[in-house]
Amino acid sequence: MRPLEQAQADVLNTMPRMGSETVAIAESLGRVLHAPAIAQTLVPPFPNSAMDGFAVQAADLTGATVTLPVNEDVPAGTVPTMAVTSGTVTRIMTGAPMPDGADAVVPIENTESTDRSHVTFTGAVSPGTNVRPAGGDVSPGDVVVEAGVRLTARHLASLASVGVSPVVAKMPIIALMSTGDEVVEPEVAQLGPGMIRDTNRVLLRGVLTDLGVPYVDLGIIGDDVDELRSAYRHAAEIGDAIISTGGVSMGDFDFVKQILGETGSVEFWRVAMQPGKPFAFGSVSGVPLFGLPGNPVSTFVSFEQMVRPALLHMMGARNVFRPRITGVMGEDVETTADRDVFLRVLLAESSDGSFVAVRSGEQGSNVLSALSMADAFAIVPRGVSRLSAGETLDIEMFSWNERRPFDG
Ligand code: AMP
Ligand code: MG
Repeated sequence: MRPLEQAQADVLNTMPRMGSETVAIAESLGRVLHAPAIAQTLVPPFPNSAMDGFAVQAADLTGATVTLPVNEDVPAGTVPTMAVTSGTVTRIMTGAPMPDGADAVVPIENTESTDRSHVTFTGAVSPGTNVRPAGGDVSPGDVVVEAGVRLTARHLASLASVGVSPVVAKMPIIALMSTGDEVVEPEVAQLGPGMIRDTNRVLLRGVLTDLGVPYVDLGIIGDDVDELRSAYRHAAEIGDAIISTGGVSMGDFDFVKQILGETGSVEFWRVAMQPGKPFAFGSVSGVPLFGLPGNPVSTFVSFEQMVRPALLHMMGARNVFRPRITGVMGEDVETTADRDVFLRVLLAESSDGSFVAVRSGEQGSNVLSALSMADAFAIVPRGVSRLSAGETLDIEMFSWNERRPFDG
């Protein structure tokens, strides 16, 4: 068996990278930055007030009570027409440009006023207080977002602040299919004898959408040489990568190998993880092919551990693996020692701040109910066959949902 890290590295090493394109900021959410985004401008573009208040010369305020005339009002979006000279002040709003001569802003709540033309100060202020200098956030030449970063809403805001349209990696288009004579569309009202509903394509469409990756759904392909051959060929024409499920277990080996032997190649791996041990990896006419196991939970684990990092790598992402945290197992578990075991768990936060993992249900690789309820994988590493309640282990979140309090 191939250790999981080895299998992951082997996949990443052969994945092609996508080319690049410039897109509008509004279109770039979830895309990976291909070239660093470099500012040409200052942010803020001009020195401005951090508070609603009065722009002053700090030297005028000694701490003794002093009443000074207000020379003008400067709301945000306007510019001062007068300088602040010693003994005068300007009423200024947050974000408005600082008047020449002023070096500090006293917040309105620290002043007293009986009419709009005068204001009384009772405290001292040091120069620079409540003034946001030009370029305090970004200066020309600064890297606003680095290459390899997958853009979040926060990055988009930062790009917007400097008006830079990002150069991002093109998105790979995924050609997707399920295989199996027993598999039918999930919408059927009545299952025929021996039939099951296709859950894998629903799952994969969802996780690809979560990742922002476009796909073409080729549907369900029967266990038939000709059908499968033409499906793979079609997939290689329209896709930058192919994901199929089913047909990778021992019994299917020769069948798929024969089909792919003509236009590509495939290797059948035994990855040292559970679920998701069988995994086919190859190419059709130069397009990478991921053959995931048919059992739905195995499909998910294989996608998470093998395909998701590979797609992120194609997209040019610098970091491709989900973060892990240390958690506490909330119950005794026994697992196989020869593989990394990805338990599907509920994760709750205990009163001492630790994350406690409890299995979300039956752990069979066909049991979707436990997967659908789970928050995370709790990973029992190779070499460990038994963990007792209270022992720590790695937790990998599929998503960070709202906090779940621990009541057990
Ligand atoms: P296979 O890898 O084709 O031998 O399939 C392994 C198991 O997964 C079998 O029980 C299949 O019926 C089941 N299976 C295969 N494809 C799907 C699918 N798309 N949705 C749900 N179950 C599937
Ligand atoms: Mg099958």
